[in-house]
Amino acid sequence: MENKKNILTGERPTGRLHLGHYFGALKRRVELQEDYNTYIIIADVQALTDNFDNPEKVRKNIREVVLDNLAVGIDPEKSTIFIQSMIPEIAELTVYYSNLVTVSRLYRNPTVKTEIKQKKDVFGNEGESVTYGFLGYPVSQAGDITAFDGALVPVGADQIPVIEQTKEIVRKFNKIYGPTLVEPQHLLSENSRIKGLDGNEKMGKSLNNAIFLSDDYETISKKIMGAITDTNKIKKNDPGNPDNCMVYYYHKLVNKDNVKTVNVECRAGTRGCVDCKKELIESMMKFLKPIQERRKYYEERPEVVDEILKKGTEKAGKKAKEVMKRVRQNMKIDYFD
Ligand code: ATP
Ligand code: MG
Repeated sequence: MENKKNILTGERPTGRLHLGHYFGALKRRVELQEDYNTYIIIADVQALTDNFDNPEKVRKNIREVVLDNLAVGIDPEKSTIFIQSMIPEIAELTVYYSNLVTVSRLYRNPTVKTEIKQKKDVFGNEGESVTYGFLGYPVSQAGDITAFDGALVPVGADQIPVIEQTKEIVRKFNKIYGPTLVEPQHLLSENSRIKGLDGNEKMGKSLNNAIFLSDDYETISKKIMGAITDTNKIKKNDPGNPDNCMVYYYHKLVNKDNVKTVNVECRAGTRGCVDCKKELIESMMKFLKPIQERRKYYEERPEVVDEILKKGTEKAGKKAKEVMKRVRQNMKIDYFD
């Protein structure tokens, strides 16, 4: 137990989790919890950086994100699920780390750049009116990771530049104050960037292009029926190019057994898009069935979920205190110890 490395991973409580989360992070997370001490952060502080005017949304989604983690097979006996804002050490570390990062470096972070563009409406149209809090979220994320001696951070591809920034902070910290913090490595899944229903490079909770793990049959049918297919395939028997089709893209993820046939028939013009979509709806529901059944079990037992979160937060707090003690000593701010 003691020699196991620590993992820090998690989500922002900005919505329910979707296929992007599953294939990008959750699937791997479930496997890794067997061999690592896994800390799963429900990043409400980070969610507030661009949802500060909507605290109800963040509060409500904490439970949703926990339910989705349990639904995919996270075992609370093996993994520690906790709420970010209840670990004040993370905020404390963020303050000290902010001395080690320049403002221009934060502006250059490719993830932050893309997200600023996507969030124009939140910050105003100028692109200049980004808040200090949002610009600094990679610093806060360095706090999240290092507060738990996170050695491995399983993430989707969109987060690589953010982990890179944590590494820089850790190196600088250790150089100035002596060896203190663990330098993390990011860990990518096989499918590290799942596209959205609209063909966008990233399926995102806040991008309105996601298939959620908890979506019901009707919702999934509507979404898949509206998905983008090869625009050159107009009539049922026209040959199509599956590489330009979002429906084929999801067949590859959830209909592995029949995906070759889908490809061949589409190219040959023997498969109509409507039938192809119907098959995908069935495969998707089959894939989601065990996840949704487990979710239902926990949805019906809110007191069990509360207890998991409470216990997890207590355990995480103990670990963060231990790391903070080390940081205070090495930064020479352990005045009365
Ligand atoms: P938001 O739009 O609010 O930022 P999000 O969908 O990006 O939500 P996060 O909570 O920010 O979700 O991300 C949690 C984790 O899931 C991160 O590791 C992220 O890289 C991963 N992830 C999110 N979307 C995808 C995706 N489409 N493909 C692969 N990984 C993803
Ligand atoms: Mg995100």
